[in-house]
Amino acid sequence: MAYIDPHIHMVSRTTDDYRRMAQAGCVAITEPAFWAGFDRSSPAGFYDYFRQLTDVEPKRAAQYGIAHYCWLCINPKEAEDPAFAREVMKLIPEFLDKPNVLGIGEIGLNKNSRNELIILEEQIELAKQHERLILVHTPHLEDKLKGTRMTMDALINAGIDPGRVLIDHVEEHTVAEVLDRGFWAGMTLYPDSKCTPQRAVDIIECYGNERIWINSAGDWGPSDPLSVPKCHVEMRRRGHNQKLVEKISLENPLAFLGQSDRFFLPEHS
Ligand SMILES: [Zn+2]
Repeated sequence: MAYIDPHIHMVSRTTDDYRRMAQAGCVAITEPAFWAGFDRSSPAGFYDYFRQLTDVEPKRAAQYGIAHYCWLCINPKEAEDPAFAREVMKLIPEFLDKPNVLGIGEIGLNKNSRNELIILEEQIELAKQHERLILVHTPHLEDKLKGTRMTMDALINAGIDPGRVLIDHVEEHTVAEVLDRGFWAGMTLYPDSKCTPQRAVDIIECYGNERIWINSAGDWGPSDPLSVPKCHVEMRRRGHNQKLVEKISLENPLAFLGQSDRFFLPEHS
């Protein structure tokens, strides 16, 4: 079945992963800008990273018939130094006109610190000025609920339409509030942390299938670029029909991402 993995860090994956994802039915991915596993020593490191996201990865993905889109930002983990973060933010407008850039992300909070919040607010403003979608990272190590609330408050205070924001890495204790406030919710499937395929299906069974998607967030750490189709298997094992699988991994991503006039799906069957 054709599906979209709307959050995966392909800069960290091999070309062989693209092949396996294409074989499993992946037709499009979106890749948010994130922490590379180490702090970059200068804004120039981000300049090259943005080139990779807007030029190199789309070509690599196209070899396997996968459409590649991306999001740009300074990630919250490297946003603790506002002066450094602002240097990186200055680079972003130059890349926003590249054809595969959907919006600003994954912005958010890491330690829920004051400096992170300042830079978050400035990046929300950047998205607003350029009328772009927003993809939000929520903290794993510190208080996720508190960080999620702080981020949603910042977005609402800035006058952002919650229907144009996806809050990612939701879990059982954050999903209801995210959906209740009108935002989209993403569940990140990890083999041994964040949300497992089983927990994701539990959440769909409890909270419904509107404004929610699943993604692998495959990166340089322990992660699985095929976790989305593995979650589809779990849905079918529990007796859910194909309609639900398509709703979560095709219709919902299309509805959210399609708000950008840049996003379109290659022909698929
Ligand atoms: Zn990510």
